[in-house]
Amino acid sequence: MGQVILKKGRDEPVRRHHPWVFSGAIDTRRSSIDDVQPGDVIDVRDVGGGFLAQGYYNPHSQIRVRLLTWDQNDPVGPAWWRVRIARSIARRDWLATDPDTTCYRLINAENDELPGLVVDRYGDYLVVQALTLGVDVVKQTVVQALVDLLQPAGIYERSDAGVRELEGLADVSGLLYGKALPDLVECRENGMALLVDPYQGHKTGFYLDQRDSRRWILTHPLVQGKRVLNAFSYSGSFGVAAALNGAESVTNVDSSEAALDLVTALMNANKLHDFPVENVPGDVFEVLRYYREMEQTFDAIILDPPKFAHSRGQIDAATRGYKDINLLALELLEPGGLLLTFSCSSHVDADLFQKVVFGASEDAAVHAQIIGWFAQPADHPVLLTFPEGRYLKGLACLVT
Ligand code: SAH
Repeated sequence: MGQVILKKGRDEPVRRHHPWVFSGAIDTRRSSIDDVQPGDVIDVRDVGGGFLAQGYYNPHSQIRVRLLTWDQNDPVGPAWWRVRIARSIARRDWLATDPDTTCYRLINAENDELPGLVVDRYGDYLVVQALTLGVDVVKQTVVQALVDLLQPAGIYERSDAGVRELEGLADVSGLLYGKALPDLVECRENGMALLVDPYQGHKTGFYLDQRDSRRWILTHPLVQGKRVLNAFSYSGSFGVAAALNGAESVTNVDSSEAALDLVTALMNANKLHDFPVENVPGDVFEVLRYYREMEQTFDAIILDPPKFAHSRGQIDAATRGYKDINLLALELLEPGGLLLTFSCSSHVDADLFQKVVFGASEDAAVHAQIIGWFAQPADHPVLLTFPEGRYLKGLACLVT
């Protein structure tokens, strides 16, 4: 087995079970990696040669090793993957028994102690995302374990996430097992009907990570009777939740016309045939400015933008973006208006995000209070040793 030796003082994160070893931590001269194939499992050792952990190796990635086990006598082979996959699924047993929610994340990569592997359930189907080379090379093992444990009708691969480029990998999509998935997979979330496009849909087809926020919108009395602006709407699921809860009207805004094309089917699947909904294709930054110019107001505004900060270096630009849209939204709200505002940038933490929203309220010259806090749901856990896993945060604010 190959091994990498860490430089002096670089073993601490590994001892604390952080799952990543960066290239800069490795003493290349003392490591034995000549016979190691990309994706192979290797040992990680400290400066004195003492065993620390085992992980899979990728010479093309800045994250050179992703750690799998800290036990020397825990061989990483097909049986190992099977046990870890079974554990991750078993941790969701409480969710699997709920007939009202048939779509959720089964495996959340590092945070489920399965670095690089994402598996989402959509009704009878699974969508798999391999984010790393180490997972690419065990894909068949993963598929076999999923088939044995869950007997899905079909498994589709959506390994087309941007981060694969950092691993030196091209995008891959295709059927891995069983029946071809329908163009729109029907599933349920808290009783709401969902239609998920596994082929062209974002992420693995849908934003499963917003389930708790959707539930708030579906059930909170403050949404009732409101004229809702759902900005960055994707296929309009927040709007459907608001409509089901008794909102007066919904305006969805998204730059993706393909996403907006799904709205009508999603409304109809929830028997909202005659509900007043408007779909506006366009750039939210521009559309909000247009509404301000037209003096158009709303009673509730949802802002669920895509990730603005992809690295630390982008934090300043991201906060300017968040401030801009939150400022505009607060200007479009009447007193008593509700702002539901989100950020999915892990580099912008919850404190910074709250400060940005505060800054926006100052510039908009409005006072607002926080009445609710949002985060990623329990099927998107954060491993305590891997705080990077926390990314989604949101605030419910009431304009006073
Ligand atoms: N709330 C949605 C998820 C939103 S994801 C849900 O629960 O399903 C972010 C969305 O913003 C994506 O649909 C993307 O197409 C859209 N988007 C990204 N940049 C945009 C922009 N500048 N203007 C409008 N929409 C944008």
